[in-house]
Amino acid sequence: MTSAAPTLPAATTTTTTTTTTSGTFTPTFPDLASVPLLLFNKQADAFEAADAAWASWEALVASADAGAPRAVLLVVSAEDAASGRRQFAAAELASFATHYLDRVTPTARHYYEIIREARPCRLYLDVEFKPDELGEPTHRGPALVDAVLLHVARELRDALGVLVSREHFLVLDSSTPEKFSQHVVLHLPDERLFSSNAVCGALVERAVARAKGAGDELAAAIVDLKVYTRNRAFRLLYSSKFGRTAALEPARECARRFFRGVDEDSRDGALRLFRDSLVCPLGAAGPLPRDLVLEGADALLGGEPPSAPRALAADSAAGARAPRASSMTHGASPFPLLDEFIRRAASRAPGPPAEIREWSRSGSTLVYGIARNRYCERIARQHRSNHVFYVVDLAGGQARQMCTDRDCRGFASAPIPVPGGVLPSASAWEGAASERLSRWVGTR
Ligand SMILES: [Zn+2]
Repeated sequence: MTSAAPTLPAATTTTTTTTTTSGTFTPTFPDLASVPLLLFNKQADAFEAADAAWASWEALVASADAGAPRAVLLVVSAEDAASGRRQFAAAELASFATHYLDRVTPTARHYYEIIREARPCRLYLDVEFKPDELGEPTHRGPALVDAVLLHVARELRDALGVLVSREHFLVLDSSTPEKFSQHVVLHLPDERLFSSNAVCGALVERAVARAKGAGDELAAAIVDLKVYTRNRAFRLLYSSKFGRTAALEPARECARRFFRGVDEDSRDGALRLFRDSLVCPLGAAGPLPRDLVLEGADALLGGEPPSAPRALAADSAAGARAPRASSMTHGASPFPLLDEFIRRAASRAPGPPAEIREWSRSGSTLVYGIARNRYCERIARQHRSNHVFYVVDLAGGQARQMCTDRDCRGFASAPIPVPGGVLPSASAWEGAASERLSRWVGTR
């Protein structure tokens, strides 16, 4: 095995200690007095240390309160400030942040987050161009990035039924006059995550294809599609590449959301920004928390067109503890006649009158979540706990009942014709869509 090459003294006092072949790693929660950051020559050793630390921590809290905070164990790589030699470390987030923000000289920060294979992560983008190659000056960069993000937002809306605005994107910048360079990290509503960076890559690829289709060749050209490979190293906030001085900093035009009330110069502000800028906010070790992962997105990997109803079914099937499907809006839709038609259609006997609990729209598909009445055509009776929902094809003028029950997955009832007088006009639902998007476009 590779010998460990610690550049910092290990903790002198320990609470739990896991001995690995490469050295001693101590997850400290939340003891910040000592920072046990061990460096390894091989990435695999850092993975092993992170996994071992996770296991020991799990054992420690197994009997503790279930509400105990989740451990966040990062795997980072670092380029030695003198030689540029790359090493790897496993570290608990708070300890690492203390080390990184307080003890490492800013000019010596050449650190990268390792986005481990098949770990939940935020959608991220690497956008860059050289003015002489693209034929555009660097100051055009932010407008081009906005165009890219608009296509990403539209793809999220159409493929997954998720609505995001400009404010959901955290943008970091390390541009120089010679090269425009930004990193973007998306915070989904409810802070949902993607199950892997491969899924992010599939979505971004579709967004780039979309940009090209819309004639937005320049926007498509600045997106680096090679950053979604396995165990990808992605530069950390405040770090520069070895041999360079341009560090990633929050972009001036970045969403106010991330700066509102945040004093970047304060310790707390810097720590919060650091956490928000991570691609893997849950770290690189530990099990996949399915309840935090955006359902339905994995279908993007197979090239299979995902459907809003299936995403909804999977969300609701996760049980009462699962957060509300982020794409659903509570209460009535903007289409009262259609609401009433669906409410009546769902009020099946024997059962109480149905109520519209929530709705969402993606393209020409409108989905209604139903409350009170749980009659499912597949079993020809009321479900005990699972809700039913109705999917309306606005263009085709028909509705079908579907169901969140696991056994009913994929089931759709016989079509129910929706009278023309009840259907909203195409211009009405296109209008509702553009209304939501205008917040977006308005920021450009
Ligand atoms: Zn059912």
